[in-house]
Amino acid sequence: MTIATVKNKTLIARDKAHLVHPLHDSSTHAHGRVWIKGEGATLTDADGQQCIDGLAGLWNVTAGHGRKELADTMQTQASQLAYVSGYSGNSNKKAIELAEQLAGLCYPSINHFFFTSGGGESTESSIKLARAYWKLKGQPKKTKVISRIDGYHGVTLAAMSATGIAPYWTLFEPLVPGFVHIPSPYPYRYNGPSGVSQGLAAANELEEAILREGADTVAMFIAEPVQGAGGVIPPQDDYFPKIREICDRHDVLFVADEVITGFGRTGKYFALEHWGVEPDVIQFAKAITSGYFPFGGIGINDAIMQTLEDSNQAWMHAFTYSAHPVGCAVALKMLDIIEKEDFPDQAAKKGDYLSNMLHVALAQHPHVGNIRGKGLMCAVEFVEDQATKEPFSSTRKIGLQIHKKALEKGLLSRVKGDSYLLAPPIIITESELDRIVEILSESIQEILG
Ligand code: PLP
Repeated sequence: MTIATVKNKTLIARDKAHLVHPLHDSSTHAHGRVWIKGEGATLTDADGQQCIDGLAGLWNVTAGHGRKELADTMQTQASQLAYVSGYSGNSNKKAIELAEQLAGLCYPSINHFFFTSGGGESTESSIKLARAYWKLKGQPKKTKVISRIDGYHGVTLAAMSATGIAPYWTLFEPLVPGFVHIPSPYPYRYNGPSGVSQGLAAANELEEAILREGADTVAMFIAEPVQGAGGVIPPQDDYFPKIREICDRHDVLFVADEVITGFGRTGKYFALEHWGVEPDVIQFAKAITSGYFPFGGIGINDAIMQTLEDSNQAWMHAFTYSAHPVGCAVALKMLDIIEKEDFPDQAAKKGDYLSNMLHVALAQHPHVGNIRGKGLMCAVEFVEDQATKEPFSSTRKIGLQIHKKALEKGLLSRVKGDSYLLAPPIIITESELDRIVEILSESIQEILG
């Protein structure tokens, strides 16, 4: 054991004795790191080793670590009113203000907000909202949820069933009945019929699924505007306009899961703005509090809200921490930061910079098949053969090897299979972006030659 790892190893041994982790996996955890400090885009571990936070925590810490104004906001709110119920009949001023501000920022028809503690709860909330809506409209059979392969929507049982990444199902099947998956538009690999653009062909998969299931049984379609955990997959430009059209034609609610893409990450406040499309419901979490407080929610369009109001029936859906005053206060502070520091613009410019640097450094490498992204979220996909796009055998775990090498060199992020994912804090500096590209290039060189 070298001096430089001794504290990490001791803490990890204590950790393993009693802690169960998200995605718990003992072999991965044996080489774990214990993080003790964050500043900007840099994390420091128990032994004082520093790392660039290449995924902004889990896509969420857009404002960077160590923001005193966010810490102060929490302290002030917790001292004044740490908690009060948000159940009907009760409210708090920060929640009211937050909903007002979101109504001004979000897609024009979305003006009503229900708050949660994170993304998975937001997925559950949209699914229950969609089912309630169709029941109140006199169509109680419309309960099914269509989602996409490689989509990620959380791990609670219904959210897991909407998630289209099979390893998240294996130990927990059967999925909840009534969840249907269609292919991702994945421009690098989607292979639809010829004679029609690949974006339209991928969108048509939704119409085929709706017709197969029966439109009178389908409540909603849920999609991330840019698939995140599934491998940072932006769609073709004609994909979402067609999706909107199909949902309208068959009376299927379109739910945009903007848990990663919301609040600037892709270069717009909300990502469907890239394609001039509005969803019926939007889900958000993560960047709304930059990870300083567990918080999320859904935005609901006027038509759905009117139906709920007209029904005079309670929507029996609730979380103890819905509209948590401290969460709302942090979210309000974040909206201020996002606007003053123009996060959408920063993400667009820094995303272009990172993408150009990655192309210059890696595009010629024979094992780099695809470099893709939108704003400040991107992926580099490694393949056996650049010309044929043949993937590496999964037993070689190339992505994981590159991830480990990069971590040794001071870059922390995640991989999905053989795609290396990047979504650093939006406040990251140009020289830190340069260093990310340098570390990734060296790691690829050392693993793949
Ligand atoms: N939806 C999307 C698009 C996500 O990326 C995530 C988490 O990464 C979730 C939902 C689930 O969020 P949470 O982990 O806060 O439950």
